[in-house]
Amino acid sequence: MIKTDALIIGAGPTGLFTAHQLKLIGLNCEVVDNLDKIGGQCIELYPDKPIYDIPAVPECTGEELTNNLINQLKPFDIKFHLSERVEEVKKNNENWQIKTNKGTEFSTPNIIIAGGVGSFEPRKFSPKECENFENKSLFYSIKDKSIFKGKTVSIFGGGDSALDWAIELSKDSKINLIHRRDEFRGAQATVDKMNELAKSSKINLFTKYQLKSVNGKEILESIDIEHDNKEIKNLKSDYVLGFFGLIMQLGPIANWGLNIDKKTISVDTEKFETNQKGIYAVGDICTYPGKLKLILSGFHEGALAARACFKLARPNEKYRFEFTTTSTNLLKRLGKKE
Ligand SMILES: Cc1cc2nc3c(=O)[nH]c(=O)nc-3n(C[C@H](O)[C@H](O)[C@H](O)COP(=O)(O)OP(=O)(O)OC[C@H]3O[C@@H](n4cnc5c(N)ncnc54)[C@H](O)[C@@H]3O)c2cc1C
Repeated sequence: MIKTDALIIGAGPTGLFTAHQLKLIGLNCEVVDNLDKIGGQCIELYPDKPIYDIPAVPECTGEELTNNLINQLKPFDIKFHLSERVEEVKKNNENWQIKTNKGTEFSTPNIIIAGGVGSFEPRKFSPKECENFENKSLFYSIKDKSIFKGKTVSIFGGGDSALDWAIELSKDSKINLIHRRDEFRGAQATVDKMNELAKSSKINLFTKYQLKSVNGKEILESIDIEHDNKEIKNLKSDYVLGFFGLIMQLGPIANWGLNIDKKTISVDTEKFETNQKGIYAVGDICTYPGKLKLILSGFHEGALAARACFKLARPNEKYRFEFTTTSTNLLKRLGKKE
């Protein structure tokens, strides 16, 4: 069980700046995110797009903003738990007990939910039996490409991820690329490369097909794919990969007894506290009169929620407001000389 002054759910821009604010005022915190990388929507949805309305930063991309926020956290030692989704939140005396889908447990007086539009989840195949093979021979992302060497891999999807992996894995594996349309959404150069490989039979291309069923008991043996005209083909497959993009789901947050209104959590505007003492919501996931779903609003909300955490984490101390420019305490925490 990990004990911490505050647990932040979500490593988007709001979660990152909130972590900075907590550490600055002398509180410990840990951060959990369901994604395998830090940055939330900025990194997942628009890493290369310029943002023009971050105060004092005339222009930066989603990725640059994320890197700057990570750099700003460098003076502090913050533990990130990535690829973990917070599932359970329960009250245990004065503290909250939190559990992730990987079994990591935390105990803390303060939870700050910076969960954006919910957790990003891969869009999955519709046949129910696919679940039996998930993370064994059926995957929605690749961690270790070496397992596919010398095997037959059926890849589904029409965007850059499906095409890039079909091209990459075709070097050492037999590839079936299956897409439900004729046109691909990937970059033109990637589509051209894939067509070239299909022409030279390095990739077996099936368009206007979708997955109908997966066959096998413990081990995947083959799949059936169905054409728009209902024709069915059976393809021997050792592995199946699905790249259909991500969906955002409020997911387990909906079950924690919070006041939820249209997939957002109602908070006050003094502490950004929810209807549960010690649980705060900041950034895109919170709502209050006048709420703007902008990054700058998340920064403000995180700064106030962090200070509200102080009271529960240090009940015998009084929080004192200080500037980073002039406070010896803060400069010390930032690792700067006075
Ligand atoms: C295309 C596009 C362009 C945009 N341009 C601008 C712009 O120019 N200026 C601007 O100010 N804003 C812009 N925005 C909005 C901005 O990206 C959001 O306001 C901002 O990302 C919100 O940050 P956040 O940290 O609150 O949430 P997010 O960035 O959504 O991060 C939330 C994180 O929480 C994680 N999470 C959720 N639930 C769980 C759980 N149960 N367990 C673990 N992790 C969980 C998610 O995986 C995610 O990583 C844009 C958005 C989009 C989509």
